[in-house]
Amino acid sequence: MVSAPRSVTILGATGSVGASTVDLIKRNPDRFRVEAVASGSNVTALAQVARDTHARIAVIADPDCYNALKEALAGSGIEAAAGEQALIEAAQHPADWVMAAISGAVGLKPTMAAIERGATVALANKECLVCAGALFMRAAAQFNATVLPVDSEHNALFQALGAGRREDVLRVIITASGGPFRTWTLDAIRQATPEQALKHPNWSMGPKITIDSATLMNKGLEVIEAHHLFALKPSEIDVLVHPQSAVHGLVEFRDGSVVAQLGPPDMRVPIAHCLAWPERIDGPAPRLDLAKLGSLTFEEPDTVRFPALRLAREAMIKGGAAPTVLNAADEIAVAAFIAGRIPFLAIATLVEKTLEAADARGLLTDPASIDAALAVDHIARSLAKDLSGALAQ
Ligand code: NDP
Ligand code: MG
Repeated sequence: MVSAPRSVTILGATGSVGASTVDLIKRNPDRFRVEAVASGSNVTALAQVARDTHARIAVIADPDCYNALKEALAGSGIEAAAGEQALIEAAQHPADWVMAAISGAVGLKPTMAAIERGATVALANKECLVCAGALFMRAAAQFNATVLPVDSEHNALFQALGAGRREDVLRVIITASGGPFRTWTLDAIRQATPEQALKHPNWSMGPKITIDSATLMNKGLEVIEAHHLFALKPSEIDVLVHPQSAVHGLVEFRDGSVVAQLGPPDMRVPIAHCLAWPERIDGPAPRLDLAKLGSLTFEEPDTVRFPALRLAREAMIKGGAAPTVLNAADEIAVAAFIAGRIPFLAIATLVEKTLEAADARGLLTDPASIDAALAVDHIARSLAKDLSGALAQ
């Protein structure tokens, strides 16, 4: 039986995840019809994606870009819109499936808008779960929305969890490549430049998440993601460093069986899984060749050289708004590092100092709404900015 084309909306269409999503859609024109595409401020790239995918509407978050977008879409018949409200409306458009791939906390409101209309949401934006995970998962249950994890490790867990009953799961393991500094000494890491940190050994991703992979903060954020997505206790989530990035996630069941998902390190694999779910489509990524890889190795993560992983775990255990503050401080710290204002190891130090300052101000209570979470995010950013001066290089 041939099913009707699935209507899809792509939030963050011009980014790394967005481009992989568009690539898959273009290879499967009969299966998908694009409703809306949205981005932040890159007019040229958005107009190109909108034309390539024959989208009905293109939305740019920056209101000053409206005229330029309208001009770039002239003659295409594609509707142009701009501004934060238009972004939320794009998520509310009646598409069956929404890719939530805006980077950062700005993705919270549009993603929640898609969840509140009961859509199937492919969730790439990990900040939704880190900043307000309890609120998102509660809303998904309340509005009958389906949340499909795009992040490769969580997508792996989602697939492996299908092998048994939830109550028979003992623990899950997510893998980390270890990033470009896995084998570096602490002294060498201290001198690491943005250029070195932006060179990920296996994955091609946006700049923020690439730096987070070098500090292992990305893995810390992913532990928090797993905690909310699959209602796992902190003690049920482990991390293993696996430099080959072939095994993405493992689930250990009570009988001793460990079920893993493997695949090449290409985001089009988990994105394809989400796009077609519960069916499958052909994946264009180079196939996993285990004989060519030869060996798969695993090691414990080192939280002395990579303290961000410890900080994220502590924030998860503390709960409330601690992960929200962790995430906000990390965004500021990563931006300061990329701009050459603070050294690499100061990223984790700044996050830790911001958490302490926020705790001292009584800011770590559980946010009761997305607006409350965004308010904490806002204060944490300004705290982090204030504290970053003392860490300047
Ligand atoms: P990129 O930086 O490559 O892309 C970010 C996207 O968000 C762009 O389309 C950008 O638009 C858009 N954007 C930025 N600011 C705004 C705004 N204010 N309003 C609306 N849109 C905005 O990021 P990635 O694709 O790497 O990551 C996206 C999300 O997915 C992140 O949360 C990341 O953690 C997560 N993720 C990414 C993975 C990866 O492999 N890349 C893996 C797992 C998770 P513009 O181009 O106009 O600036
Ligand atoms: Mg990941």
